[in-house]
Amino acid sequence: APTWRIDYAGQLNAEQLAVVEAPRIPLLVIAGAGSGKTRTLIFRLARMLESGIPPEQILLLTFTNRAAQEMLKRAASLVANLPGVDVRRITGGTFHHVGYGILREHGSLLGFDERFGVLDREDQTDLFASCIAELGYAVGQRRFPKADVVAQLHSTAINTQRSLPDVILARRPQFASLTRELVDAAARYIERKHEMNLVDFDDLLLHWRLLLVREPRVRSLLQERYRCILVDEYQDTNRLQGELVDMMAAGHRNLTVVGDDAQSIYSFRGADFSNILEFPARYEECQVHKLTVNYRSSPEILSLANASIACNIRQYPKELVARRQSGGILPAIVPARDAVQQAAFIAQRVLELRDEGIPLKEMAVLYRAHAQSMEIQFELSRRGIPFVIRRGVRFFAQAHIKDVLSFLRFATNPSDELSFKRLVKLFPGIGSGTADGLWRALRREIEGGRLSIADAVMEPSLLEPVPKRSRAGWMGCRELLRELASPLLINAPSQAIDAVLAGGYQAFLESQFVNGDSRIDDLRQLADYALQHPDVGTFLAEVSLLTELSSEEVVEGAEPDEFLTLSTIHQAKGLEWRGVFVAWLADGSFPSAPALRDRAGEEEERRCFYVAVTRAKDELYLTYPMLSAPRDGERVLMKPSRFLDELPAAGGHELYEKWSLDEVPLAPALPAPPSRAELAAHGRRLLGDGADEGAADLRLGDAGFEPAAPAGLPTGAAVGEGAVSDDEED
Ligand code: ATP
Ligand code: MG
Repeated sequence: APTWRIDYAGQLNAEQLAVVEAPRIPLLVIAGAGSGKTRTLIFRLARMLESGIPPEQILLLTFTNRAAQEMLKRAASLVANLPGVDVRRITGGTFHHVGYGILREHGSLLGFDERFGVLDREDQTDLFASCIAELGYAVGQRRFPKADVVAQLHSTAINTQRSLPDVILARRPQFASLTRELVDAAARYIERKHEMNLVDFDDLLLHWRLLLVREPRVRSLLQERYRCILVDEYQDTNRLQGELVDMMAAGHRNLTVVGDDAQSIYSFRGADFSNILEFPARYEECQVHKLTVNYRSSPEILSLANASIACNIRQYPKELVARRQSGGILPAIVPARDAVQQAAFIAQRVLELRDEGIPLKEMAVLYRAHAQSMEIQFELSRRGIPFVIRRGVRFFAQAHIKDVLSFLRFATNPSDELSFKRLVKLFPGIGSGTADGLWRALRREIEGGRLSIADAVMEPSLLEPVPKRSRAGWMGCRELLRELASPLLINAPSQAIDAVLAGGYQAFLESQFVNGDSRIDDLRQLADYALQHPDVGTFLAEVSLLTELSSEEVVEGAEPDEFLTLSTIHQAKGLEWRGVFVAWLADGSFPSAPALRDRAGEEEERRCFYVAVTRAKDELYLTYPMLSAPRDGERVLMKPSRFLDELPAAGGHELYEKWSLDEVPLAPALPAPPSRAELAAHGRRLLGDGADEGAADLRLGDAGFEPAAPAGLPTGAAVGEGAVSDDEED
């Protein structure tokens, strides 16, 4: 037997070691939170490297790109003493990330121009809206679904590998009578996307699959290249991703997947934990391993988590015992008067814990939807507590960022009609009509004369559709486009961004927005980031895919290493902190009202609660506001979350302690709570994204409340599908 240089046995328990040492056959590790699944996967990877597998033969699929980077960093430190092993040659990242690379390499076989651009979710919705309008459906059809609903249905159909009519019937039966129109809209959408040489996120998976199915050469190439496949968070793969894994591993079946069905929280995006439950049936020769020791949480926190998840019916039976000694600290349930007091409590307790020796970096505030963090952000900044937000709404989804990127996108993909129209309309006097005319004229020049963008924009024929009052605007625009399309700037993305700013966009922001300065700062940050990239194409690819970098933003705070984390629960998967606050645990907010339509929805919310609770190592605070914000001058009473109420309360063994804030006066004394309007104004600044997002967030937050409805109190507004959309970003 070889002697191993890495000390596996010293750093893993026997169950974990068995996974690391298992032969190269299909392996399923199904185990609860904090049991070391991710750690074990890293060690298995290290063991493969140590046994001589070349790093370029390893494929590591994770839920975020950042998770992959962190795992690879950890693996690198394990193999640091092995000569000649370079973990940077491992392919690691999300399915989308890996799919993107494969499509760049082989997409031409499917008829893609290699310069294809990637549509993000907002672009996708916009394009759907324009297809629906073009087909004339929304007109006179009062009950036609909104573009984002159509986009979502289409996406679900792809990710679950079902037909659109089936998905409509299952998810939105009220639109069944519009099935034909919806299918037409989807077909038009696909056509338009193709014309513009664009792909959406789902295409990155769909075309990857198509390559595997249709192109035997690519299939064997990929199967030979990646002889060893590892997947973390397997419970959140959807049908399509499950198939991709199966096809990639079909040759060698050297596949290790790890997951926890109790943490499956992405069914709204088509995730299906039958992938994990049916794994043994698909891989008859597989080994199934369980890890039963939780290394993360105190026994008190673990007991609460176990008691909560036990309320779910559909799950794989698992035991999970605490490895850690009892710390004597029970999780606390903390009812607050309202959202403002809830925020004040969190801020104050964070400071106290910091005084007790828990660094800010070891604490997090988690919530169901980003909108719920408004008051908390306000309170933290008022008290000067630095924080970072991991959020679903991406930095790159902000209007000013997208404006600037649209210049770069068009300069590298002249078929990108969306970007062209977006950018041209930023110039004075140019509206949709002129933009359409310009686009048509431009296409004629580029296709007819095979001109480059730089030359085509200067053609006199382009002036024809431009009315006099828009001439100056167009002249400015074409100058800028000409400059951007030059080889000099194509190879210098950071300078290209500067050029857009100098070419009028900075002046535009300054004149149009009170907070123009903060937007300009964002763009300078973007230009700095772009410095690391050799050309505009690479930069744009990175931007579309690096969702982690984009979902994280330092909002406030001087010291970069010392900050509290604010995050949606969906973005907190796989992470851990010493102190965790879970906010907004009121029925209707968490569980969110729309999720409560059926038992499956409620169970998914409970899994979400389980994920939140199991992020905590030492201290756990479960808080909720008892009164909603005033709406039309009235406050609505809210019930504590059923996830708190259902916890077995007494019986010798207490699971939690109930705190009362009124007995503990909050110090220092707070000035009168800010009004909702002040919060909104402040929040906008904090969010750095102008009125639109702040306002939308507020509405969403309000809509999330469901009244406890004692007699005489007004009831909350009906809740739309929106409440979960916050977490839908990858
Ligand atoms: P999740 O389900 O939340 O993703 P997980 O099962 O992936 O959790 P890890 O994140 O790998 O769990 O491990 C949880 C914590 O326990 C980590 O801090 C990890 O380093 C630690 N841990 C796991 N196994 C051991 C071990 N054998 N010895 C020491 N620490 C361990
Ligand atoms: Mg993990």
